[in-house]
Amino acid sequence: PTFTTVSNLSNLLNVRYEKLTERLSEMGFEELSYNFILDQETAGLIADEYGFEVNFGEENEGFDLKPNDNIPEKLLKPRPPIVTIMGHVDHGKTTILDYLRKSSIVAGEHGGITQHIGAFSVKTPLSKKLITFLDTPGHAAFLKMRERGAVMTDIVVLVVAADDSVMPQTKEAIKHIKKSGVSLIIAVNKCDKENSDPEKVIADLAANGIDVEDYGGETQTVRVSGLTGLNMDKLEESIITLSEILDLKASSDKKTAVEGWIIESQFKKGMGPLATVLIRQGSLRNGDIIVSGKTYAKVRSMKDEAGKVVKVATPATPIEVWGWKDLPEAGDVVLQAKDEKQAKETIETRTLREERKNQSKDIEIMNKLRLDEK
Ligand code: GDP
Ligand code: MG
Repeated sequence: PTFTTVSNLSNLLNVRYEKLTERLSEMGFEELSYNFILDQETAGLIADEYGFEVNFGEENEGFDLKPNDNIPEKLLKPRPPIVTIMGHVDHGKTTILDYLRKSSIVAGEHGGITQHIGAFSVKTPLSKKLITFLDTPGHAAFLKMRERGAVMTDIVVLVVAADDSVMPQTKEAIKHIKKSGVSLIIAVNKCDKENSDPEKVIADLAANGIDVEDYGGETQTVRVSGLTGLNMDKLEESIITLSEILDLKASSDKKTAVEGWIIESQFKKGMGPLATVLIRQGSLRNGDIIVSGKTYAKVRSMKDEAGKVVKVATPATPIEVWGWKDLPEAGDVVLQAKDEKQAKETIETRTLREERKNQSKDIEIMNKLRLDEK
């Protein structure tokens, strides 16, 4: 159980009931009775005082999937960087993403990007390396994930308009970037404009704690125009340079279980639930079983952003996955199961855990009501 009564706890700890209630009143509990219900935290605290550890049964609560805990060094190979664009409203995030998407050789090879799946791959014009861009960082699910401290991005490109400089959302982004520890590149945008002042942007960023390379720091700054395409290749190459310094690696080996995130999900007429998955580890193939939250998929087919069927999806590749039982939630983690049985067990465990959590919340409320009644 996630709760216990005072009398039960006194039996368990072999402490006299009067002694226990005395301690509880010290802690602020009033109107105690034999059947007074203690929440997990209080019971645990008291048990601890008497040298006991309370086991609320969490250890044998059932099977749950875990990420790979140790991937052998020799399986780790370089992978594309995962990049998010941030910046103040109207500073040109969408314009830059659109430019990158359209100019992408990867898209060109397959006849253009035909569908919006929340992320896309670009092959850089000079070094011919892949970059994965996320274009849904503003989604509520991502904000939720950010709060939980989960970071799926390696590099943030902070866009600052050269005719407007550092604005409130720029500062907000800087705060987030510093807190999450992701690497940063500055794109000073709108440099095609006559009234643009990139040098002011650089100075303002320095004043806001960014160690810009222009002043001898480490943060690369690129003067671009999302509209004309000015220096966009330089921006891409600076992302590659940074990703090489970061030494980003993952395993696409069969021995490594698939890990990833849900980027987006939606019901499509006649197809059922579809979700864009960004692979973090392992390789995903048709027939594989993946679990996310309280649903799972037996992968029926996968497509890239150009609508092309993908047989094997490797780390940092965004793909649309078909075969979900239910709609998974954007921002949730994806883990591979050995078989459907394991997937179902995992979901059962997670459902149970959630029920218990809700139950213990109910108990807290019950106790509060009792105290309030007085
Ligand atoms: P977002 O809110 O950050 O996504 O900004 P948008 O990409 O929607 O751009 C806001 C406005 O600025 C639009 O009218 C764009 O056409 C314009 N804009 C974006 N980038 C540039 C640029 O490099 N040069 C110029 N002159 N205008 C730009
Ligand atoms: Mg926009």
